Amino acid sequence: MTLYLHDTMRGAKVPFEPMVPGRVTMYLCGPTVYNFAHIGNARPAVVFDVLARVLRRDYELTFARNITDVDDKINAASLETGKPIGEITARYIRAYNDDMAALGVQRPDIEPRATDHIAEMVAMIEKLVAKGCAYEAEGHVLFDVAAFPDYGKLSGRKLREMIAGARVDVAPYKKAPQDFVLWKPSTPDLPGWDSPWGRGRPGWHLECSAMSEKHLGETIDIHAGGQDLVFPHHENEIAQSTCAHDGKVFARYWVHNGFLSIDSTKMSKSLGNVLLVHEMIETIQGEVIRLALLSAHYRQPLDWSEETIDSARRMLDRFYGALRGIDIPAELRQVAEPPVAVVEALQDDLNTPKALAEMFGLARNLNKAGSDDERRRLAAELLAAGNLVGLLGQDPEAWFAGATSDDDGLPADEIEALLAARNAARAARDFATADGIRDRLAAAGIAIEDGADGTRWRRGG
Ligand code: AMP
Ligand code: ZN
Repeated sequence: MTLYLHDTMRGAKVPFEPMVPGRVTMYLCGPTVYNFAHIGNARPAVVFDVLARVLRRDYELTFARNITDVDDKINAASLETGKPIGEITARYIRAYNDDMAALGVQRPDIEPRATDHIAEMVAMIEKLVAKGCAYEAEGHVLFDVAAFPDYGKLSGRKLREMIAGARVDVAPYKKAPQDFVLWKPSTPDLPGWDSPWGRGRPGWHLECSAMSEKHLGETIDIHAGGQDLVFPHHENEIAQSTCAHDGKVFARYWVHNGFLSIDSTKMSKSLGNVLLVHEMIETIQGEVIRLALLSAHYRQPLDWSEETIDSARRMLDRFYGALRGIDIPAELRQVAEPPVAVVEALQDDLNTPKALAEMFGLARNLNKAGSDDERRRLAAELLAAGNLVGLLGQDPEAWFAGATSDDDGLPADEIEALLAARNAARAARDFATADGIRDRLAAAGIAIEDGADGTRWRRGG
């Protein structure tokens, strides 16, 4: 079976083939950590977590999702609250990881932080200057868009239109209005690093180019993000990386998720309709939110409402209702595969609504099954399908007990028992079982952290 993905660069759904047979590299633009994640921020994390799971079935995947921990929005948050920048970023990195764990998002293989890669960023800028793609002006270094004829190819914009659309108050040190910042000077009260252009800090676009090169190489297979990032963020990443790498393709497939709105309205602070994940999971199970996010195709807009949540909850009731009381032997769980129709739906540009509909049909057949053997087989298939999309990791009884992330959650002794089972599975190199347990804990709102002194857990939210 072939995976098909809609590639923004080609503007079409195309068969996916990795550069190196058997191996895939994927980069997802991650959060800027100055605030709690809202439900819109959760959409790319959840959607591309499903893509990662689908890829891992057939390939050895290296998945990187960065953390932007140097940014003007973070500086502004520090100024506003009087809290040191490091405190702000540490707090929201933790919150992001807890929130995403509650939504069943597996940790990517690599989570590079911008502030750990300043040397790589400086080196990349030096290369761009040496190649004549960037120039220094008043302590800034700017990318010279005129030096990159393909600029605008991803977003389908023409340079002429961009110039016409540029704001009037263009910085005087720019050669052309659309030239963008690679490095900018910092005042003593702002984070800064020494560089050949004085003390300063990197531009946001450059961070991703430098981190993806460092961890995934000069050419990556898949670059993902929200559709708002197509222009200018991803356009600029392409310009920087392609120039720095002598014209080598930067990303072979570009995938972008559509936007999420609330009751048909754009989410915005000024409208007061921003739904924060860490607040939502106080009253709604993470698994319900995850299913709701997957109920629309990732490229389509998703309008979030009470009904979105209610129908996700009803669907989980049906799934867990079908699974309830069925004792699936461990060996059967191990070997069970998701139905072909579910896999095919996901391989068709991640058609999660279709995959969920197939799972729904499976649950219906399960309810009508004529024998215990058939019931167990179908239940194991449903669980395998659930595992592929990161759902159905809970004990059905826990689901019906209405466990949420708080006091009604999994009792501590049950969590400890699950962690012990996970450690045993890991020791036996049975990573499928270990990951299954981690997902199950995540679905119940339990965040776990592996450290030198063992595994610690805490309730999300
Ligand atoms: P930010 O932290 O603002 O850079 O956003 C992190 C990610 O969330 C980016 O990939 C954005 O494209 C995505 N994003 C932000 N708002 C929404 C939304 N309303 N719907 C879908 N994705 C969003
Ligand atoms: Zn990026």
